[in-house]
Amino acid sequence: MSFQVEGKVAVVTGGSSGIGLAAVEILVAEGAKVAWCGRDEERLNASKHYILEKFPHANIFTKACNVLKKEEVQQFAKDVKLNLGNVDMLINNAGQGRVSSFENTQDEDWMKEIELKYFSVLHPVRAFLDDLKQSANASITNVNSLLALQPEPHMIATSSARAALLNLTHSLAHEFTQYGVRVNSILLGMVESAQWKRRYETRSDLNLSWEEWTGNIAKNRGIPMQRLGRPEEPARALVFLASPLASYTTGSAIDVSGGFNKHL
Ligand code: NDP
Repeated sequence: MSFQVEGKVAVVTGGSSGIGLAAVEILVAEGAKVAWCGRDEERLNASKHYILEKFPHANIFTKACNVLKKEEVQQFAKDVKLNLGNVDMLINNAGQGRVSSFENTQDEDWMKEIELKYFSVLHPVRAFLDDLKQSANASITNVNSLLALQPEPHMIATSSARAALLNLTHSLAHEFTQYGVRVNSILLGMVESAQWKRRYETRSDLNLSWEEWTGNIAKNRGIPMQRLGRPEEPARALVFLASPLASYTTGSAIDVSGGFNKHL
């Protein structure tokens, strides 16, 4: 069974790397028209070339855009509509985590983290909502973290901001049913990312392969599946929730953590 997204328009924020790029790739492979953004022009162009090399006839649009800048996001939304048509699926993926405990998180760090987790979703939702209301299969899907339910002291600000995003996602889901817009999220554990690749380059034991090194991290952290997730694994869950296959699902969160969740 396909994801049934052929010909539909999808937007992925932070689509130039990692999980976002993996979601872009699945959507393009499934015949969707896909727009994505990121801040860094070079990374964005590299992701565009990567996709076009694999799918030369892909119907895509990319633009540098910082999701924390409201005017840029509004302009991005206008450009997406002009280039690809009315949006059906919005995937809010752009962002990053902050590693810090209470002792070393300053007030301005808290403000930045709260701004990132709220407004990386609020700005795109505002910018695309009118278009989503016109779609017969509209969805918003937010990338969130297991930290929302299972906080870690070494990521205190990210954990509490993630909890707020989970709560917000639920409220949006209920408010937007009147418009036929479904709103869901995925809860990530630890997924291979550019950050982990950089840490691997500076590992102390150079004999360790990527699989051994990440496997050790997963074991030490107590991830039952004993490995980190691969970007395409959460990406598949994202595309499922965004797609018409999840037509009776709203206000829901799919766990993609390799069994790292300790709650029922
Ligand atoms: P990557 O760093 O590989 O990708 C992040 C993407 O977001 C990049 O395309 C980046 O491009 C873009 N981005 C970041 N900030 C902004 C911004 N302000 N405006 C527009 N684009 C932005 O990370 P992952 O794929 O691993 O992470 C994807 C999401 O998953 C993030 O929200 C992250 O917090 C979340 N997550 C990841 C986990 C993991 O283990 N990997 C765990 C839990 C959550 P650019 O820098 O050029 O703007």
